[in-house]
Amino acid sequence: MKSKYDKNNVFAKILRSEIPCNKILENDSALAFSDINPQAPIHVLVIPKNAYVSFYDFTNNADSREVELFWRLVNDVILKENIHGKGFRLITNSGDHGNQDVPHFHIHILGGKNLGRMIN
Ligand code: AMP
Repeated sequence: MKSKYDKNNVFAKILRSEIPCNKILENDSALAFSDINPQAPIHVLVIPKNAYVSFYDFTNNADSREVELFWRLVNDVILKENIHGKGFRLITNSGDHGNQDVPHFHIHILGGKNLGRMIN
């Protein structure tokens, strides 16, 4: 079942160029940009260009090409930011228990320092 998508969420506005972002990379299916409130020296968000609420929505409803291009862009950001050697963390917050703030699926890419334990 497709979850209800809020077209007025902040990432939908970025995709419609209604508000700016610091773009890092993009491809046909996904966009990567800097998090406005970085939690590490490198903090990039990757979002699909189509409307998906969460990881579950994206993984179950996107077609395989879209899924492939999304994860390729995650990989391309990791290479561009040169964090593949020292390491990094990928996070997706989903729903209430995941404390998801923006209801458009996104992956956080964090790196540039030792990030400590996963949950403090
Ligand atoms: P989450 O809790 O996983 O939904 O995280 C949402 C993230 O979006 C937070 O890390 C915010 O700092 C980030 N964010 C919110 N508004 C913007 C914006 N306009 N540009 C870039 N990042 C944003």
